[in-house]
Amino acid sequence: MAYDDSNIFAKILRGEIPCHKVYEDDDAIAFMDVMPQSSGHALVVPKTPSRNLLDADPAVLARIIPLVQKIAVASKSAFNADGISIAQFNETAGGQTVFHLHFHIMPRYEGQPLQIHARKMEDAAVLAANAEKLKAALA
Ligand code: AMP
Repeated sequence: MAYDDSNIFAKILRGEIPCHKVYEDDDAIAFMDVMPQSSGHALVVPKTPSRNLLDADPAVLARIIPLVQKIAVASKSAFNADGISIAQFNETAGGQTVFHLHFHIMPRYEGQPLQIHARKMEDAAVLAANAEKLKAALA
């Protein structure tokens, strides 16, 4: 299937809708997931359009993984996490709901399972506070 630029992350990248941004460079943006599966759940989104990993340019992937690592390291520190889960879903059958490539960075805590994927909207104030914590750890 072809990339469709009406998806919500394309709108965020074009500045048409807001997000709780924590990082931006020429290649990518990172912001808080509005329906976090754990406290501090963030998303890393390359600016170059592709539906997912399957149709992505390998050169884009080569540039995005160091950023995924950078956000993961900052996230572990910012949220005092015991570990970090990284997830990336491909197509509906693979669990994908937004069809612009992105990586999930989810802080993990001993004994705490992840919340259900894309189910419960977090309060804007909590997202804003978490964005500030992550930005501070990235600074
Ligand atoms: P996926 O199933 O991998 O496509 O996940 C898409 C993710 O985007 C889910 O975790 C949603 O909670 C999240 N999400 C959807 N809309 C927004 C939005 N406007 N801002 C931030 N995160 C979003």
